[in-house]
Amino acid sequence: MLTQLAQAVYVVAAILFILSLAGLSKQTSARRGVTLGMVGMGLALGATVMLAADQSERPVPLTLVLILVVLVVGATVGAWRARSVEMTQMPELIAILHSFVGLAAVAVGYDSYLTERATAGAGGSVHLIEVFLGVLIGAVTFTGSIVAYLKLSARMRSAPLTLPGRNWLNLGALVASLGLLVWFVVDPASGLVALGIMTVIALLLGFHMVAAIGGGDMPVVVSMLNSYSGWAAAAAGFMLGNDLLIVTGALVGSSGAILSYIMCKAMNRSFVSVILGGFGSAGGQVAASGDVEQGEHREILADGVADMLRAARSVVITPGYGMAVAKAQYPVAELVSRLRAQGVNVRFGVHPVAGRLPGHMNVLLAEAKVPYDIVLEMDEINDDFTDTDVVLVIGANDTVNPAALEDPNSPIAGMPVLEVWHAGQVIVFKRSMATGYAGVQNPLFFRDNTQMLFGDAKDQVEKIVQAL
Ligand code: NDP
Repeated sequence: MLTQLAQAVYVVAAILFILSLAGLSKQTSARRGVTLGMVGMGLALGATVMLAADQSERPVPLTLVLILVVLVVGATVGAWRARSVEMTQMPELIAILHSFVGLAAVAVGYDSYLTERATAGAGGSVHLIEVFLGVLIGAVTFTGSIVAYLKLSARMRSAPLTLPGRNWLNLGALVASLGLLVWFVVDPASGLVALGIMTVIALLLGFHMVAAIGGGDMPVVVSMLNSYSGWAAAAAGFMLGNDLLIVTGALVGSSGAILSYIMCKAMNRSFVSVILGGFGSAGGQVAASGDVEQGEHREILADGVADMLRAARSVVITPGYGMAVAKAQYPVAELVSRLRAQGVNVRFGVHPVAGRLPGHMNVLLAEAKVPYDIVLEMDEINDDFTDTDVVLVIGANDTVNPAALEDPNSPIAGMPVLEVWHAGQVIVFKRSMATGYAGVQNPLFFRDNTQMLFGDAKDQVEKIVQAL
């Protein structure tokens, strides 16, 4: 009885997850989307407890206590991390959470193999294939996500690791895994050995695959690992015979794959070339940056920018990762409302990979209550820079780098960028002449119509607001 009820609740939860994703596709409905997802997850947890109580051979109270203990531990750690994490650490947090999904899929795979083998004899080839694929995807996701975490948190260099014959190494790992799959299915007696060897190969493959992807390609890796974690969860769902886990895993897997595709398009890269890695390298080395003589840059102070803005009719703000680091979105929102009150046409131009997370800038601007209708995508604003008096580049670097379009040898060549240099005046807010995430020097800083406003972006924007 409880099992049937739980299955019905699972269907409701699955529908809520789909509605949640639909809500998340627009800023105006994102909050509703998150709420629907939370309700769906609450129902799913409740149904899982019902199922466990109904199906377990243990006494019901003991099962409930075990689940409760695990829930309390998970919820406490989750709530603590969610409250304490800085917005700038969000990508690394997501990467490490993906690694947990991968690890869980590996654990479920081993558990499912060991327990079912003992009771069900052959266990059926299909089940063995499910176990093998679940462990394979889980192990790749696990180490891949850890490397992504290390790169995003700058504990490991973001440059690609370019081992000689790296694509052959990956291909060899896949072929070896295929051979081990045959061994695993054909000879269940020594299956554990095959599974163990494959797990080690898959862990190394995950490490190598993500280590080989560097610099500007990391946005795709983040969404790709998101996708893998979904497939790992779906595989775990098959092993556990849990329909909701299969549906949820498939939703995460496919939405991550779609996001990867969108990211690739935004960066003008093919998915295959991202996976093959080594982007941003020349002759096995990451292309040198900053060693080409660029000329002199000019500096300006906050008061000077305030004067410039007073005289401007049209202003575009292009935010980047530095705005997130400085938490400058609040004074930026204040600046925008002042300028708009004085009749200045102010808009934002957001690059698809600005920041360290898909949608990073949109989240920050929404947090500071910037009206959605003045936040435009790169494609919507790029043609308008010629008619713009002043562009404020606040903590962005790679996403406004003209070398991407003008220098075929640049490591980010071909990536579409915000063409801010077509505007009358460009003010770049940053603390030094340092490069951005991709480690590439930016010729924009040396253009005749560009001036640098050095210092923390938040302090500088506050000074401008005061001067205004
Ligand atoms: P970048 O990382 O290119 O540059 C950020 C700039 O902000 C730096 O040059 C830095 O200069 C400046 N900065 C840092 N802190 C401050 C501060 N407190 N005040 C003022 N300025 C500051 O940013 P973009 O957003 O332009 O580009 C994003 C990059 O990240 C791309 O290369 C993208 O591929 C990559 N990426 C994006 C992901 C995504 O999903 N969006 C995921 C992973 C990577 P200085 O130190 O001199 O202050």
